[in-house]
Amino acid sequence: MKIDILTLFPEMFQGVLGSSILKRAQEKEVVKINLINFRDFSTSKHKTVDDYPYGGGNGMVLKPEPIFAAVESITDHEKARIIMLTPQGKTFNQRIAEELKEEKHLIFLCGHYEGFDERIREHLVTDELSIGDYVLTGGELATMVVMDSVVRLLPGVLGNEGSVETDSFSTGLLEYPQYTRPEVFREWKVPEILLSGHHQKIEEWRRKESFKRTLERRPDLIDINKLDEKDRALIKE
Ligand code: SAM
Repeated sequence: MKIDILTLFPEMFQGVLGSSILKRAQEKEVVKINLINFRDFSTSKHKTVDDYPYGGGNGMVLKPEPIFAAVESITDHEKARIIMLTPQGKTFNQRIAEELKEEKHLIFLCGHYEGFDERIREHLVTDELSIGDYVLTGGELATMVVMDSVVRLLPGVLGNEGSVETDSFSTGLLEYPQYTRPEVFREWKVPEILLSGHHQKIEEWRRKESFKRTLERRPDLIDINKLDEKDRALIKE
């Protein structure tokens, strides 16, 4: 996968691109990530990228010219998903991450100030994503969130491929509780069933715990009418 990130603050990405899973994914060449400062595409003397809003009001608006020029400088941008990060976009979730992981090329547009000139949204972007109902200073943190959750799904990125399949939301449910050594910490014991070595019983326990947890915390994720007999019996237990 190729990812291009248009930002006025490329230095903000240093930590996240230089550490852990995103670093490893680039080293393994599963993903190639380019940072593009769209200020470099401003043709004005002072490299201006924003201007006052027509009609008045607070703050500054990102101008269309440098952003269009930066995107159009990217090879094969016509075939890419061009994603604007905006609090007005569709709320990002695991289903959208699964969909984006199938793409070969993603371009992220990080806004700042009051946001983008509307013509960028109308005539350049293919998708608008929000990471939640709150307002950030810029699109950089939102891009990191979306990119991280997409890249970890790419084959070969995580050491243990299985972990993606059982993660919260991948199964439609929240993940079951996890334990590791020691068997007893202070006086708190790991549930007996997990030490039994009985794989089928462990699977059943995990599925039941996933349902329990999801019903307690996120009942909106479960449509009881769509459950099969086995799962219905599990949640009645
Ligand atoms: N005036 C804009 C509005 O009310 O929709 C908000 C602009 S915000 C201060 C600046 C930039 O931060 C946005 O252009 C966007 O790129 C990013 N941003 C802020 N909140 C976001 C969110 N919840 N999800 C994604 N991006 C966000």
